[in-house]
Amino acid sequence: MTANFTCLLRKKIKRTRKMIPRRRETFEPVTMGHIRSHGCRDLLVYCDSGRCHHSTALNADWLPDETPVRSLCRRMVCTRCGMIGADVRPDGSPHTNQPIPLKLN
Ligand SMILES: [Zn+2]
Repeated sequence: MTANFTCLLRKKIKRTRKMIPRRRETFEPVTMGHIRSHGCRDLLVYCDSGRCHHSTALNADWLPDETPVRSLCRRMVCTRCGMIGADVRPDGSPHTNQPIPLKLN
């Protein structure tokens, strides 16, 4: 079995079709003004250390509208482990998983 595996690795793979390069899509960075236009006012921040798993939600009303959300990642400092850098995302939880009101006729 091991010999067959090695043999397959050495076999030259023929490409039957040429790969078609995709046009790369670029998007404007998501800003605080953009997420506020969707009613989102809070950010979720996750520590990037991979060890402490600290996370928190913080209010972002003090940030200017033109602030890109991703630019905040490298500015965050974990208050638990001291790691500089975090994953910052808009907190959409107030708009999701809301109970559906009952319709009473
Ligand atoms: Zn941490």
